[in-house]
Amino acid sequence: MDTPKRVLIVEDEAHIAELMRMHLADEGYAVTHAADGHAGLQALARGPWDALVLDLMLPGVDGLEICRAARAHSAVGRYTPIIITSARSSEVHRILGLELGADDYLAKPFSVLELVARVRALLRRSEAMARSARVEAGRLEVGQLALDPVTREAWVEGRAIDLTPREFDLLHFFARHPGRVFSRLELLDKVWGYQHDGYEHTVNTHINRLRTKVEADPGAPRRILTVWGRGYRLVAGTGAEGEAAPVDAATEPPP
Ligand code: CA
Repeated sequence: MDTPKRVLIVEDEAHIAELMRMHLADEGYAVTHAADGHAGLQALARGPWDALVLDLMLPGVDGLEICRAARAHSAVGRYTPIIITSARSSEVHRILGLELGADDYLAKPFSVLELVARVRALLRRSEAMARSARVEAGRLEVGQLALDPVTREAWVEGRAIDLTPREFDLLHFFARHPGRVFSRLELLDKVWGYQHDGYEHTVNTHINRLRTKVEADPGAPRRILTVWGRGYRLVAGTGAEGEAAPVDAATEPPP
């Protein structure tokens, strides 16, 4: 078997932490537990971790701050999936959205078996992504866009652009399927890994942000197009851009 996956649990409630630790260890993961926010931040710095399970309400440094720190790490290195526990429903959009970019959340009280299943799903997905990145190592070019899945760098017309990890994953996904239309739900499923509805606006927000980085005029996109009533697609080639764009751009919904 491969090296066990390393999972960091940051949780101040000792009995919940122990229950999670036991079940995740049973799955064959190498589990480390940090009992408060400061210990969590220190443990994070001792990474890399294959997954983080973060409680939100922690003494010292709260889970949101640790999440932010983890995302700052993954902007320079590899992507670590994060599950937030005890999300207040009012914070879920912040947690899963642009601001913090966690991969999943579980409201307390949750079933430990459910948590284990979510961790397993996240690890499977990040493994698959790493695998496809290795397979497609080397630059991927679509029209004037170029992406390097290994260094996670991206360029538009030869100019490097600064993408968040999720924006990169989204653009990378489009670039692997140029010209194909994906609904917001499909994108959620393939890029975020959520199987459930209700977060489609997260996709819109990311598409809009991505457009500000890859489009000359984000208000009249010529690369990532809205296909009215169906979803989004990345324009396939350099040649198609000029002709296809104005038609689709005209179907952009009003802001
Ligand atoms: Ca707590």
